[in-house]
Amino acid sequence: MATTAQPEATTETTAGPTIAKAWGVDAPDEQLKPMEIERRALRPDDVAIKITWAGICHSDLHQCRNDWHNSRYPVVPGHEIVGLVTAVGPKVTKYKVGDTVAVGTVVDADLTCAECQAGWEQFCLSGSTFTYNGVDKIDGTITKGGYSDHIVVREHFVFRMPDNLDPAKASPLLCAGITTWSPLRQYPEHVAPGKKVAVAGLGGLGHLGVKFANALGAHVTMITTSPSKGDDARALGAHDVVVSTDAEQMAAAAGRFDFILDTIPVTHDVQPYLQLLRRGGRMVLVGAIEPLPSIHGGLLIMGNKAIGGSGVGGCPETQEMLDFCAEHQLYPEVETIRMDQVNEAYERLLKNDVRYRFVIDMARGL
Ligand code: NAP
Ligand code: ZN
Repeated sequence: MATTAQPEATTETTAGPTIAKAWGVDAPDEQLKPMEIERRALRPDDVAIKITWAGICHSDLHQCRNDWHNSRYPVVPGHEIVGLVTAVGPKVTKYKVGDTVAVGTVVDADLTCAECQAGWEQFCLSGSTFTYNGVDKIDGTITKGGYSDHIVVREHFVFRMPDNLDPAKASPLLCAGITTWSPLRQYPEHVAPGKKVAVAGLGGLGHLGVKFANALGAHVTMITTSPSKGDDARALGAHDVVVSTDAEQMAAAAGRFDFILDTIPVTHDVQPYLQLLRRGGRMVLVGAIEPLPSIHGGLLIMGNKAIGGSGVGGCPETQEMLDFCAEHQLYPEVETIRMDQVNEAYERLLKNDVRYRFVIDMARGL
């Protein structure tokens, strides 16, 4: 494939489809294992990226195991990607070989519909393409994610990594980061200095929710099922901690919060949390992508409360979030692992034993 705009960009990636080393699963009951996958030849607006760091999101585990009943096998997960540009198509203008870049949960959308034009590409009216387990709009292949040595992505969906953002720690920002940043930014009347914000679930998403809410000036409370995480929560920026399994603590927190960000990864009764909202309070669900038990309408009506959801974030706000993190030197707490430790990492994720995001060093164990 021609790379006339960037002659120095010539690598084998540009010559045609390439074989990538990857880890994935062929079935829901399998462990992740090494496999070879094909990456497409560069289209004119594509960027080829050598992946250096890949975060492990709970969604990766959900999709390997078909928890959402829509997995297309083989699943090669990974949508928290940081890497180096190795080649660019002739129409690429923003990136050149050698740039450090990042890719998140979405790799394509029509870019013409009202949602795309407004910067909400993930909600593209003709359907956005997820980084893995999606269907490529042009060739119909199933997309494969970041547990891989390289990837080819349309330029619009590639983010610039600020110079002073450490690539080894930043990859979880591409999903956990934007998924918590976006809802906190969508409700500036609820998330601001003087406002009380709670984050439920201190995991990959939740720990960034705490850091962001603190950085945005709110008074932050961690709502956790794990009393042992209290000290961590405070170190991350929580001013207060409520243990959700302690009825007395939950009763004492009734009517307290302007905003609750709920990152709990499984279906659960949201009613105890709605009771913690003050008048006009809002709760945003990002974790439980599945049916929820019913909600008594009175819990919303009494106190003018609202419950909603939020899905990742669009491209402009993802870049904004990366720039904010660089400016404030705000990082995820990461535990770096080798690729061949991924199955152990998944088991630990299920056991709630990660503080607070696994990041795979793609140079090791692939
Ligand atoms: P994670 O690292 O496993 O953290 C989830 C946290 O929730 C745990 O650390 C735990 O915190 C709490 N928790 C776990 N099981 C629980 C249970 N049974 N009841 C109550 N609390 C429980 O997961 P993550 O990577 O942050 O992802 C969280 C969820 O968000 C996943 O379902 C993921 O698929 C989803 N997600 C959604 C979006 C979106 O666009 N909306 C994007 C990315 C991910 P405590 O110990 O503090 O209780
Ligand atoms: Zn994710």
